[in-house]
Amino acid sequence: MSARRMLLLGPPGAGKGTQALRLAAKLGIPQISTGDMLREAVAAGTDVGRQAQGYMDRGELVPDAVVIGVAEERLSQGDAESGFVLDGFPRTAAQAEALDALLARMGTNLERCVALVADEDSLVARLLGRAQIEGRSDDSEETIRTRMGVYRAQTAPLVDYYRKRGILGEVDGLGSIEEVAKRIEEALS
Ligand code: ADP
Repeated sequence: MSARRMLLLGPPGAGKGTQALRLAAKLGIPQISTGDMLREAVAAGTDVGRQAQGYMDRGELVPDAVVIGVAEERLSQGDAESGFVLDGFPRTAAQAEALDALLARMGTNLERCVALVADEDSLVARLLGRAQIEGRSDDSEETIRTRMGVYRAQTAPLVDYYRKRGILGEVDGLGSIEEVAKRIEEALS
């Protein structure tokens, strides 16, 4: 497993966050989650948080300009020089292009994209279960359906974008955390 600059792609509930954290800890590189950073911004009441909150509560995407700013600032920090696991970014073609441009300016590139694959009904069931445990404000059934639709329309096309680039690995996202982690490591090796 030699790649150190990678991203995890997949629909809501596919386990990106869990797997990204695990992978980042194992490799000693930061996990960079725009969802986590935006939730922190909302909690802290910053400008970014105020701009993002309504979209997040409705399950819609936060505008590209806001998210790209957040991601660029984080990727420019020193600890990302040794590598990173991106989680939940990019989610649109414009974000993917901005990421490419930023990495090019930094004299580097993305080495690998791992796409977690899972059927929508299993994911909705999983998210409804998580909603009861964590009480995240965007985990109502209606919002979950919106997030799935947004994924299909805006983010799923990125799978092809990275496939064409020859850096895509597709992994079955259903199974235990350990099983999925093992598949991801195989896809990265
Ligand atoms: P999930 O993958 O379960 O939907 P995330 O924590 O990744 O959860 O994202 C939660 C919400 O944060 C999204 O529904 C969206 O409103 C916002 N968000 C996170 N990342 C992005 C992004 N890259 N572009 C636009 N909005 C984003």
